[in-house]
Amino acid sequence: MSRTVFRTCTLCEAMCGLKFEVDGERVLAVLPDEEDVFSQGFICPKGTAIAAVHDDPDRLRTPMRRMASGDFEPIGWEEAFSLVARRLKEIRAQHGGDATAVYMGNPVAHNYGALALRNAVFAALGTRNCTSAGSQDTSPRFAVSYYLYGASLIVPVPDIDHTQYFLCVGANPRISNGSLLAAPDIRKRMLAIRQRGGRVVVVDPRRSETAREADEHLAILPGGDAAFLLSLVQVLVAEGRIDRAKIATLARGWDEIERRIAPFAPERVEAMTGIDAGTIRRVAREFADAPSSAAYSRVGVCNNAHGTVASLATDLLNLAAGRMGEVGGSMFATPPFDTRPILKLTGADGHARWHSRVRKLPETFGDLPASILAEEMETPGPGQVRALVTFAGNPVLSTPNGRRLDAALELLEFMVSIDLYINETTRHADVILPPAWGLAEDHVDFINTAVATRNTVRWSPPVFEKPAGSWADWQILLELIYRLGGGPTGLKSLDWLYRLGRRVGIHWKPESTADMLLRLGPYGDRFLPWSRGLNLKKLKRAPHGIDLGPLRPGVAHRILHRDRLMHLDVPVLLKAIDELADSLESAPSGDDALLLIGRRELRSNNSWMHNVPELVSGRARCVLLVHPADAQRAGVGDGETAVLENHIHTGEVTVRISDEMRPGVVSLPHGWGHVASARWQRTAGAHAGVSINDWTDDQRVESVVGQSILNGLPVRLKAKMPDSGDAHSASPARAQI
Ligand code: SF4
Repeated sequence: MSRTVFRTCTLCEAMCGLKFEVDGERVLAVLPDEEDVFSQGFICPKGTAIAAVHDDPDRLRTPMRRMASGDFEPIGWEEAFSLVARRLKEIRAQHGGDATAVYMGNPVAHNYGALALRNAVFAALGTRNCTSAGSQDTSPRFAVSYYLYGASLIVPVPDIDHTQYFLCVGANPRISNGSLLAAPDIRKRMLAIRQRGGRVVVVDPRRSETAREADEHLAILPGGDAAFLLSLVQVLVAEGRIDRAKIATLARGWDEIERRIAPFAPERVEAMTGIDAGTIRRVAREFADAPSSAAYSRVGVCNNAHGTVASLATDLLNLAAGRMGEVGGSMFATPPFDTRPILKLTGADGHARWHSRVRKLPETFGDLPASILAEEMETPGPGQVRALVTFAGNPVLSTPNGRRLDAALELLEFMVSIDLYINETTRHADVILPPAWGLAEDHVDFINTAVATRNTVRWSPPVFEKPAGSWADWQILLELIYRLGGGPTGLKSLDWLYRLGRRVGIHWKPESTADMLLRLGPYGDRFLPWSRGLNLKKLKRAPHGIDLGPLRPGVAHRILHRDRLMHLDVPVLLKAIDELADSLESAPSGDDALLLIGRRELRSNNSWMHNVPELVSGRARCVLLVHPADAQRAGVGDGETAVLENHIHTGEVTVRISDEMRPGVVSLPHGWGHVASARWQRTAGAHAGVSINDWTDDQRVESVVGQSILNGLPVRLKAKMPDSGDAHSASPARAQI
């Protein structure tokens, strides 16, 4: 008998409501939930992929052990847990906690059980070598938020539903539906800005899908965002368009900023931005003169050479123009789950509290940059990484110089992966522990509600019963934590209680943490029986979620600093502005080099989505976009295979000639390159493509947070010669299989 289940999509930050028509274990259809309080009937093509993964025969259903041949054999859960716990304990006893590194992939951000246990995993292992997908594209934003507002997860949100001027820098929300900006059907929202007489300006080296529908596209040079944004602020200051008294009510240290942005006159940033001074002045004036305006920047700027300064400059522009905390400006969500007590209790938040062993790169929000992994495995000495735990991640494809990491993984003494698939990374694991697919688990959103364009909350029930004998991902993590001697909080003072409770059959569940955070949060009942506030029980009675109202004007209510002011006088940030000022005249590329940037596709987000036939069908998408003039210079034609080379790698790419690229800039999407896993992910293998991270450089890092500079990488393109067919050679590790 068929039934209907309403549930939030967990594939990206937009949190769209889905409607599942289910018959037994079969998904008959995935439709938009028209009554969802947030998405109101919108879904993108990826939403249906949730059902495809449920049915995917390549998805692992039982633990796998790697054999000497490099192939895998199934083993039982008890055997797998015993083996993993024994090896991790041995390595910890022999070499210390830091000898085990952890990599957590992007799906963790959409998994409240895993989020709740994140720090407990690190504590049980005793390691500070923690890395994540966020350390690849978000650390600059986290560091700026930590310093300015007192917490990494306090991120300003552009109020796109009310703004009259939307300045979108280094982001492609038409494709992403927002990043650190939860806004389902953002295309409609941006079109609405124009329909109400407003203006959308997109700044991107590529005329992206978002730029195509904007009023204006500024094809900036990769790496020029920070200088561009600071120049806009400089214009506002130089032309007397700022209200210092108002700024002083919101922030401290503005004088320091004003002094430092003086060198960023539009004429001085032309070389670095590729945008003429007149245009910069005009945009600054438009931004200030519009009835309301909001500046937003995202991955494109975070992955650039001055990502932290660019993220800071975005907030400075909003502040300088009087838009911070204003309706139609840059506002703050008031999320229903108040994660601050947990972050505070576990000491999870901060910046530069410790550094990596080899290159001394700083942690941000508890994570070291993922680019340290290979060198920490290769470099002998105390603290050398000898074991790796990956959770829902594929760093061989998603971190820079992936081939180096691919080879380094074979140096490990032990590796365990908690993952649905054997992929380019997990194929190196000694043991793979596959969790039950997320549809068998309930869901609430801990993170994305903090960056949403409207305050809402929703609980999602499981669509299916968890198959007998399977483990949820949080259960796998918790079992490992217990076997390593820890507990669910990661705090010795509390975990002994949970360990005791477990012995008498009382078990920790993420649901209890969610209930506590909701009840203690801004809309919660505070555990008072007479309160009309929320608790999980009440939330479960609202299948389409609960609307908690629009974003609240003001800034102080979200700031964690005691003085409730934005802190701008932060030495590490001020120094970074000075360094940028000193490098303004430097050209970003070499003579005949092209600059490589990444991009995201509508039907792709995480690399495992490439095993979903519906998401990879049609025209090949892993292609190098090249401007016609650059293609002509290189002697390559549309659809041809060409050779892309730099100091890291030489390999073949398929060229698509497109005038959407700024001349001198080429683009490859991320997450592709599935040759090595083709036997285990057959659909992905049939659409393998190449990995952009074969060319990215793990040693090229941004100065404040040490995040890899993934955009603006100098490369050369040339026609494929008849004898260059082996350019895309296999790495030694790949040769094993
Ligand atoms: S936009 Fe994101 S949340 Fe919405 S359906 Fe697509 S993948 Fe899911």
